[in-house]
Amino acid sequence: MDTDREGTRTGPSPLLRPCSAVLVCGCCVLLCVSPARAWVQATTEEAPHRPLHVADSNCLQYVVAAGCSADVPSDDCLVAVTLGMRAWDLRGSHFRFRPTPEVTCCGAGYERDWTNTNCVEWREDRWPGEYGASTIALTTLTYDPANGAILDADVELNGVGYRFGTDCSADVMDIQNTIAHEAGHMLGLDHTDVFGATMRVYSGPGDCSLRDLAPDDVEGATTLYPYAADPGVCQPPHGGLNADCSDPPPDPGSCGCRAPGSQPGPAASLVALAFVVVAFRIRRRRSRPVR
Ligand SMILES: [Zn+2]
Repeated sequence: MDTDREGTRTGPSPLLRPCSAVLVCGCCVLLCVSPARAWVQATTEEAPHRPLHVADSNCLQYVVAAGCSADVPSDDCLVAVTLGMRAWDLRGSHFRFRPTPEVTCCGAGYERDWTNTNCVEWREDRWPGEYGASTIALTTLTYDPANGAILDADVELNGVGYRFGTDCSADVMDIQNTIAHEAGHMLGLDHTDVFGATMRVYSGPGDCSLRDLAPDDVEGATTLYPYAADPGVCQPPHGGLNADCSDPPPDPGSCGCRAPGSQPGPAASLVALAFVVVAFRIRRRRSRPVR
């Protein structure tokens, strides 16, 4: 089992907690006397740990990076991604994931003073070591710590360490299955202990059981985004949709040098949350501050 190097605040199974011996015992007692915990809403890293949510929009627009997965014909891959997202199309919820097919490129990251994309991207050439080699996918949420509003949501999938597929074969990670779980993170849900839930932490090759939401997942989404509270507008990504993957202009107050992939400047009051998600050998999410 992988170790979890970062602290967590919500969601993961007690079986995965990096507890000390005393705490492990406490966890075991909790398992014995308490029912499984229901759905969990992710929160800001900072106290008072405001709940993360998509604010003032009844949708989250996303785009799939060109090529989708190298393991699957692009059209098949895109269909699987769409179906994974649509798992969260619920009668009792006003929230929908909306594809933006006119965008042909995207990458993970957030630009405070520029346009953005909520990107689903397979990383086929390099999977960063800090993500963990056994991690299948990683969802990064960037939010406003003042109110928990999600400003950007990006999913990266480990095409280096895993083979992906669309038919629930025993030796591949099912795309629809994986995306359904990641999409739950994109809308603000954390892991749950409920057996059979899409937002549980356990999955692996050949598993397609996350494709369909469990009542616990449905309750979470419909509570966060009830149909009756529909804001009536589908907002583009924060700052507008970056339709051409353009870079922001240099800051006139600085030297203009900015390393590729660097994060917003020191004035940014934003924090990214990275979730280590459906993994064959599960790791929990970790937090990653934006400096
Ligand atoms: Zn997860």
